[in-house]
Amino acid sequence: MSSPTKQFTLNGNYTQNVFLALQKDLGNETDTGFKGYNKTFAIQRCGGAPYEIALRFAGCCLKCGPCFASDYAWVDRFQKNRRVTRISDVSRLVSDYLGIEYPKNYQSYNWLRILGGEPLLNEDYIKFLFNVLIEVSKKDSKKFNNGIIIQTNGIFVGRKKENSNLLREKLNELYQVNQNVKVCIEISIKGTNVQEFELITQSQNRSADELALFKSLFGWNLEACSSSDLFDYNIRAFYNLLEISNELPNFRPTVIAGFGVNETYLLSTSSKERITIIFKDNKPIYHPDFWSDNFKELYSKFTSYASKNFGPLFNKMPMYGIKDDVHAYPFARRALRQGAQIFKEQWYDAKYASERGKKNIPLEESFRDILGKFFYVDNRTYYSSLINWCA
Ligand code: SF4
Repeated sequence: MSSPTKQFTLNGNYTQNVFLALQKDLGNETDTGFKGYNKTFAIQRCGGAPYEIALRFAGCCLKCGPCFASDYAWVDRFQKNRRVTRISDVSRLVSDYLGIEYPKNYQSYNWLRILGGEPLLNEDYIKFLFNVLIEVSKKDSKKFNNGIIIQTNGIFVGRKKENSNLLREKLNELYQVNQNVKVCIEISIKGTNVQEFELITQSQNRSADELALFKSLFGWNLEACSSSDLFDYNIRAFYNLLEISNELPNFRPTVIAGFGVNETYLLSTSSKERITIIFKDNKPIYHPDFWSDNFKELYSKFTSYASKNFGPLFNKMPMYGIKDDVHAYPFARRALRQGAQIFKEQWYDAKYASERGKKNIPLEESFRDILGKFFYVDNRTYYSSLINWCA
């Protein structure tokens, strides 16, 4: 299959094929009523006033069912998305960044957040991203409060040592140009065991066309990676980044549970038809009873490292969506109903249902074990703690 895109050369240094998802700019929206997606860097309502500066990359190696960015992340969709643009020009981003006015009544925005898609998708993405970060940090890092948060699935970085070495080089370059800037890379872990990883990321049975397209666009062979390999890279990324953090005072890694109450969706044909959680022995599959050995080890190493670096909240692992706890919202009942409809008795074991109301109380009780291992807080508290460590 021939490549559907052309290659660019920037300053003769490297070829690149990097895609961004353009963003709405709240400044423009307020000033002129324009609501189009036209900016690379833009202000997003996150963390409360004065909000964050954000940059979104397009394209990803995974295909998570609950992906908030599936239209520009999934490889079989993203090129059709009008927000997606192929970028070859660092100066365009620097100009967008410099064009952002300081917030009124505040000294800076909350932080700069880099998200996806997958911002560390291959060498070109890493080089491009850091060349941009280096340039904007040279010019004005105060505007983003000297704090950068990069959100990744870590697959590319965990896959090969040379990939994390490239990241180390670029982090070091950034440190050399501006020692005030702190960077935190947050790896979203896509399950506590291979079965869950496979279900969340839909990494089994991807079509040959899709995999060939991925290779032609992003240059590495996803087809050669089993679900088990990918889960391994997802976890290993944290250890690779931890090594880098031992050498670089401007950098800290972290992880977040990218599964759980509101994240472990399984899409069926219609996106309205979702089963929220899968079950085994009447417990959610991310219950500690089913954690794989490598996830257990990650949990223990992470909480020990993170509680010292980011504060006591991190005695547990952060989790997306855990706010919908069992007492506030009957998600377990809804999931059970959906599970019974879609998978029949394969996922729903009626013998556990209580006599009164068929609520499956033992299942709901089992969520307490999970709430004891993970935390959820508002974005401001969470992201601030990721950039406020003492170097
Ligand atoms: S890793 Fe993130 S961007 Fe990629 S498909 Fe999953 S949720 Fe979407």
